[in-house]
Amino acid sequence: MPELPEVEVIVRELKPELIGEIICGCEILWERTFVSERGTLPLNLIIHSISRKGKYIVMTLSKGALVVHLRMTGQLLISYSDLLDQEHVRLIFRLSSGKNLYFFDSRKFGRIYFVKNPEEIISKIGIDALDPSLSESKFFELLGKRQIRIKSFLLDQRFLSGLGNIYIDECLFKAGIHPETKVNFITRRKRKKLLSVINEVLVGAIQNMGTTISDYKTTGGGFGTNQKYLTVYDRENMPCLVCHDNVRKIRVNGRGTHFCPTCQPQVKEIR
Ligand SMILES: [Zn+2]
Repeated sequence: MPELPEVEVIVRELKPELIGEIICGCEILWERTFVSERGTLPLNLIIHSISRKGKYIVMTLSKGALVVHLRMTGQLLISYSDLLDQEHVRLIFRLSSGKNLYFFDSRKFGRIYFVKNPEEIISKIGIDALDPSLSESKFFELLGKRQIRIKSFLLDQRFLSGLGNIYIDECLFKAGIHPETKVNFITRRKRKKLLSVINEVLVGAIQNMGTTISDYKTTGGGFGTNQKYLTVYDRENMPCLVCHDNVRKIRVNGRGTHFCPTCQPQVKEIR
């Protein structure tokens, strides 16, 4: 499932390709992919800007906006060729320059919303994990004295948006925090460390064009390389890269969670 770095790479690729384009056709091949009041997109709208919050892509149009969530297997692909007969094409935007923007989605959970104001959707999620205004004090305030597990906290997009299963495991490993630690037991020092590793892990993954484990592809059909640099995710029973203890896999919130029992001890820390 694409997380913040993958979505950011896609946004950076889409910008030079799509800004200024007029959407002159919209073919919906799987009805549930496209969500709008009227069920259709008015034609000849211009794409003014493209941005991201958490895992959402926002395309501001001359009237209204398109908000895209890739969910598990959604892919945006730009091509001049006709790919209509390919498998899993759910929607096609025809653009004035002759390019096409395809939405592929094998599992069909991805959504493209057409809304008057993107805030209708993105105001429901918390601050973006790479938002420059996310200061230490703001992050500390967000964590507060919550009694939920840190992994559950980071998975819940209403607090902090953009992180998912892979990057959360990576961040907690690098911060030395057991994924089941309750937020209110995390020390100030560890909170500080966690914020800095979130930044480091996400920025590094963007530089590596994201992590391709199953479906993620860039808009030109390329793959990310960050999977080569993962330190704990998907390394069950393999030696920890730091201490050589065996990496364990448990379930937290129903999600497969990887951690090193030595580097991420389950201790109740006093704040
Ligand atoms: Zn270790």
